[in-house]
Amino acid sequence: MNDLQIDDIKTDENAAMVLLVDDQAMIGEAVRRGLSNEENIDFHFCSDPHQAIAQAVRIKPTVILQDLVMPGLDGLSLVREYRNHPATKDIPIIVLSTKEDPLIKSAAFSAGANDYLVKLPDTIELVARIRYHSRSYMTLLQRDAAYRALRVSQQQLLDTNLVLQRLMNSDGLTGLSNRRHFDEYLELEWRRSLRDQSQLSLLMIDVDYFKSYNDSFGHVEGDEALRKVATAIRDASARPSDLPARYGGEEFALVLPNTSPGGARLVAEKLRQTVASLKIPHNTPADGASLTISIGLATMVPQAGNDCRLLISAADRGLYLAKNNGRNQVGIE
Ligand code: GH3
Ligand code: MG
Ligand code: MG
Repeated sequence: MNDLQIDDIKTDENAAMVLLVDDQAMIGEAVRRGLSNEENIDFHFCSDPHQAIAQAVRIKPTVILQDLVMPGLDGLSLVREYRNHPATKDIPIIVLSTKEDPLIKSAAFSAGANDYLVKLPDTIELVARIRYHSRSYMTLLQRDAAYRALRVSQQQLLDTNLVLQRLMNSDGLTGLSNRRHFDEYLELEWRRSLRDQSQLSLLMIDVDYFKSYNDSFGHVEGDEALRKVATAIRDASARPSDLPARYGGEEFALVLPNTSPGGARLVAEKLRQTVASLKIPHNTPADGASLTISIGLATMVPQAGNDCRLLISAADRGLYLAKNNGRNQVGIE
C-alpha cells in the first residue's frame, strides 16, 4: 500500500486518501475492488475499530468511510471520537449503514457524520461522494495553511516595523536616540508637563576640547571616545521616561521628565564624575589630562504659549557658563 501523506497530495486536489473502518473483511475487499480502477484514490482498510483513531492519525485520510455496526464498539461513538480528536476533527466522515433508516441517519449526522450511504453503495456514487468530500477537505486544509502563513507574515511585518522604528530613532554611532527622536520626544514631554504642570529638566552635554582630541588621536579614536561618553549618559538615565540622545557631533542631551532642579543637578554631577573617572587620556588643556564633559542644566514648568526651544536655550546658556567657568562642570543659568 502506498503510504501517500496529505502533504504530498496537497498539490493534487483530485487525490483522495480513503480509510474504511469496518469489521467485515468482505466489505473491505469489495470497496477496494470498486476503487481499484480510480486514479489518485489511495485506499486503506481497518478492520479493528479500536485501531481506527490511531490509524487515521497516522495515515491522515481525506475521507473516512465508517461502518455503524461493529462488535465491541458502536460506530457512532467512533464518529464522535473522530470529531473530538484534534487530528481527525475536520476529516469528512461517510457512514456506511445497513439500512435506510431516518432515526439512524439523524443520529449519525448529529454525531458529526458528513454523509450517509447504505452498504454496499454503487461504485459510481461512492467514488463521486469520496471525491466531493475529499476535495472540500483539501480546500479547508489549504485555507487553514494560507491563514497560518498570513498570520506568520503579519507578525514578521510587525517585528520588522519595530526594528525599523528603532533604527529610524537611533543614532548609528552611539545607539542613543538621534536628533529627530529627541526633537519629537522633547516636544511630547513639553506638552505633557504643560498639562500636568510638572517640572521638565534638560541636560545639554558637550565634550571638552574635543576638536583637539580628534586632531591629536584621529577620528577613529574620537568616535570610540564618543561611544564611551554615550554609554555613561545611557547609564545615568535611570527612569524609563529619561531620554538620552545624541544632539549632534560631540553634543548630547538628556531629557528628564518630572525632575526637579535638585534632582537634575544630582544626575548631571554624577554623570560628569563618571566621565572624568573613565580617565580617557587627553592632552588638552594640558599633558596628562583626561577627557571631560561640560553640562548645561535647565528646569521649567511649561506655560501656555511657550515653546520647548525655551528649555533648550536655557540649558545651552548653562552650558556656555560651564565652558566659560573652566569646563568639566555643571552650569546653571
Ligand atoms: P569645547 O571644549 O569648547 O567644547 O571645545 P571643542 O573642541 O569640543 O568644541 P568644538 O565644538 O569646536 O569641537 C567639536 C569637535 O567635535 C569638532 C569635531 O572634530 C568633533 N566631532 C564632531 N562630531 C564628531 C564625530 O561624529 N566623530 C568624531 N570623531 N568627532 C566629532
Ligand atoms: Mg560642541
Ligand atoms: Mg566640545
